[in-house]
Amino acid sequence: MNRLQQITVLGATGSVGLSTLDVIARHPNLYQVFALTGFTRLSELLALCIRYLPRFAVVPEVELARGMQQHLQAAGLATQVLVGEEGLCQVSVDTEVDTVVAVIVGAAGLRPTLAAVNAGKKILLANKEALVMSGALFMQAVRKSGAVLLPLDSEHNAIFQCMPNNFASGLSQVGVRRILLTASGGPFWPNPSVDLEHVSPDQACAHPNWSMGRKISVDSASMMNKGLELIEACWLFDAKSDQIEVVIHPQSVIHSLVDYVDGSMLAQLGNPDMRTPIANALAWPERIDSGVAPLDLLAIARLDFEMPDEQRFPCLCLARQAAEIGNSAPVILNAANEVAVTAFLDGRIRFPQIASIIEDVLNLEPVVVVDDLGAVFEADARARTLAAQWLNRNVR
Ligand code: NAD
Ligand code: MG
Repeated sequence: MNRLQQITVLGATGSVGLSTLDVIARHPNLYQVFALTGFTRLSELLALCIRYLPRFAVVPEVELARGMQQHLQAAGLATQVLVGEEGLCQVSVDTEVDTVVAVIVGAAGLRPTLAAVNAGKKILLANKEALVMSGALFMQAVRKSGAVLLPLDSEHNAIFQCMPNNFASGLSQVGVRRILLTASGGPFWPNPSVDLEHVSPDQACAHPNWSMGRKISVDSASMMNKGLELIEACWLFDAKSDQIEVVIHPQSVIHSLVDYVDGSMLAQLGNPDMRTPIANALAWPERIDSGVAPLDLLAIARLDFEMPDEQRFPCLCLARQAAEIGNSAPVILNAANEVAVTAFLDGRIRFPQIASIIEDVLNLEPVVVVDDLGAVFEADARARTLAAQWLNRNVR
């Protein structure tokens, strides 16, 4: 019998982390949890450790680690607690680990995910910000180390499923004309009369089809999520941004499509539940049960498609521009967006100001070549400083 696949889940306490553990729990004959990491909600991390018995748990600070270690010992567990980014990197590169599920939100996921890539692991990537920030370095490292990179983002997983095996030889080589990235449009799309100046964080997070963490929920409402996904798709599938079209599809049933030169268009359909792409990537190239109910086509009855409204949701356009400019432009875009979304969630700015901050920071910060991780984080830090200065100037 094959040994159990050892899995590290970076960001286990989050929405995608919990879905990942749900799929893993359905297949105790295939997978074993090696390490779980959390940043906040550490009582939930403790409960997950008691349930999944990992070898390691990672928390952000020494003091928290001490408390966690005591609780684990009291529960009779041998789980060892590690700390901070160093701990995250350690559980990503350990020789025992087969697969790293990269589901930390934001720039914080970049170093450990890249460490897993450099160690040649199988990486299941949902942390799109990591790829947006360092796409060229990241994909170079994948090629060099022989890591297997599989997309968890539902759209990218759908595209992956619709692509021929040899897509890495170039889209035109394999007869692909374009990629169609579907977008639900978020909670504000269906109702153009909603005054975006006065929407609350809770309204922005009330996604019609997906249940997700708060940062990506706001990104979905602003359409920045689709912008980040456009950049993510460029790197994953070696596509130019003009080979990727965004289509609003409010039902979130078609997760994306690939258009071939012979007129064929392949789509992947399914209920909007992250356990499908997670199960697909975990077991690839095989298939395993994910716990997701089969799609009821008769209940859905219709599939709608519309053009995105880039006037009302300018973030998509800003992301496309950053993709075209390249170099540090996507780093700046991502950093300004992270600061702006946090400020919106904290009630400091109004929803449309998210796009204003990003646009102003993109205009102010010169674009530079980012050929190592140091340069990426320097550009990231400068953009965060500019965004913070914007807030100081414009927010009481
Ligand atoms: P979430 O907020 O629910 O969870 C985030 C996880 O990251 C948590 O475990 C948290 O403890 C950890 N974390 C946060 N800040 C950290 C830091 N500074 N250092 C270390 N760990 C930190 O988010 P989510 O919805 O699960 O999304 C995670 C990632 O997956 C994001 O990049 C998101 O864009 C992407 N994604 C999510 C979905 C979804 O359905 N939720 C779908 C596609 C892609
Ligand atoms: Mg997505």
